[in-house]
Amino acid sequence: MSESTTAALLDRVQAPEGEGREILDAATREVIGRAPEQTVADLDDAIARAKAAQPAWEALGHEKRTELLLAAADALDARAEELAQLLSREQGKPLNGPNARFELGGCSAWLRTAATTPLEPQVLIDDENTHAELHYKAIGVVGAIGPWNWPMMITIWQIAPALRMGNTVVVKPSEYTPLSVLAMISVLNDALPQDALIAVSGGRDVGARLAAHPDVDKVMFTGSTATGRKIIESSAGNLARLTLELGGNDAGIVLPSADPQAIAQDLFWGAFINTGQTCAALKRLYVHDDIYDEVVDALAEVARRTPMGNGLSEDNVLGPLQNKQQFDIVSRLVEDAKANGGRVVTGGSPAAELGELFYPITLVADVADGVALVDEEQFGPALPIIRYSEVEDAVTSANRLDVGLGASVWGDRDEARKVATRIQSGTVWINSHGGVHPMIPFGGVKGSGYGLEFGVEGLKSVAVHQVING
Ligand code: NAD
Repeated sequence: MSESTTAALLDRVQAPEGEGREILDAATREVIGRAPEQTVADLDDAIARAKAAQPAWEALGHEKRTELLLAAADALDARAEELAQLLSREQGKPLNGPNARFELGGCSAWLRTAATTPLEPQVLIDDENTHAELHYKAIGVVGAIGPWNWPMMITIWQIAPALRMGNTVVVKPSEYTPLSVLAMISVLNDALPQDALIAVSGGRDVGARLAAHPDVDKVMFTGSTATGRKIIESSAGNLARLTLELGGNDAGIVLPSADPQAIAQDLFWGAFINTGQTCAALKRLYVHDDIYDEVVDALAEVARRTPMGNGLSEDNVLGPLQNKQQFDIVSRLVEDAKANGGRVVTGGSPAAELGELFYPITLVADVADGVALVDEEQFGPALPIIRYSEVEDAVTSANRLDVGLGASVWGDRDEARKVATRIQSGTVWINSHGGVHPMIPFGGVKGSGYGLEFGVEGLKSVAVHQVING
């Protein structure tokens, strides 16, 4: 796909010359476009339009909305390559590998699944005395607030079920990756009626207003625990229902029955998909003493042969950190781990030769619970690897933090499934980590948030219930 078509897409959404905020290519730090700086007043106007459009959108009925959402998915597919190029430049993730093109494929798959998954009324009781049914209806206006790591896909996760159920949606993209989301929404809107889906590009003040607005009935939020708490506070004012997908610090436990060579590749991508900037990535790895050195060596081998660089080059499958703030967090945590006895197996300091925001895959062995790289979410390409000798202790370690998004157990399947039931997290994968599916519910426990996305549970979470009794 030519550069000029990506530029044409960008021109649809970016601020006029001399206005807006410059957005840089994450790899080269060149200016790629200008994000419109919309205000709280613009947001209020968008919410008013979404509220006015909602009854007609709901009145179309499921069948018509399904048809329109599938047409929107077709529009997305037709421009997937241009959108992937923009995403790659703005976010930093390569086109190739489980990255930008993969993200566009996910957007289409989730949109199509949300559009076509049935949610029939449930007959609760049907006997000679009682007939009661549980129905699900639109809530009203949904506010969608997203992060910068999988900006398009997470936005689709929020908006697709919401639209499917008859809500209208106002989206506030992350200020780090607004252009990708604005461009995607512009393409979706080629197929949708006016004001069913509106994006407002702005800063944290716009996000805060969207969460607190009296005409917003539900907030879908994916981002940090700190912001999640603020959104909970503002929901005391407007009583908005909330789905909160917050940060995680997923543990992986490798049992002595695991085969280090066989699992190395999947362990690697479980930890380093999107260069580690993934909510449910493997962020601390507990390996049994019997196979510890073999697992570390096998992971290091995968790291050495996995290319990192500018995402527009088809050779690369790992990219830069998206922003300086995240780069600084990763650098700080690695330095601290080194100072606290961590043994750097690969990486360990910035890859300045690749560009300002590049940090190499960094495996830090021989660290322990309590070290900041283990206890804090690194959200980047640095993995602490902790040695254990009793499975009991590994389970205690996995559960000791106040987050619980995902986790994984590696080794004999039956044994691993038994261990899995004792872990406090929304999902536990066996012999893999982080794979999601549009029909399998996903969501965190503990400080990782509440509410489920995807599948039938995801549709219910963007609806209000109504019991019809009689
Ligand atoms: P963030 O919380 O800083 O920002 C997320 C969004 O919230 C942005 O759009 C921001 O503008 C907006 N925002 C900021 N202040 C707000 C306020 N007071 N009210 C409403 N909105 C506000 O998070 P981030 O740095 O963009 O994302 C990284 C974090 O997100 C990590 O902790 C990561 O684990 C988490 N994350 C979680 C998931 C998941 O599914 N659980 C997925 C991706 C990212």
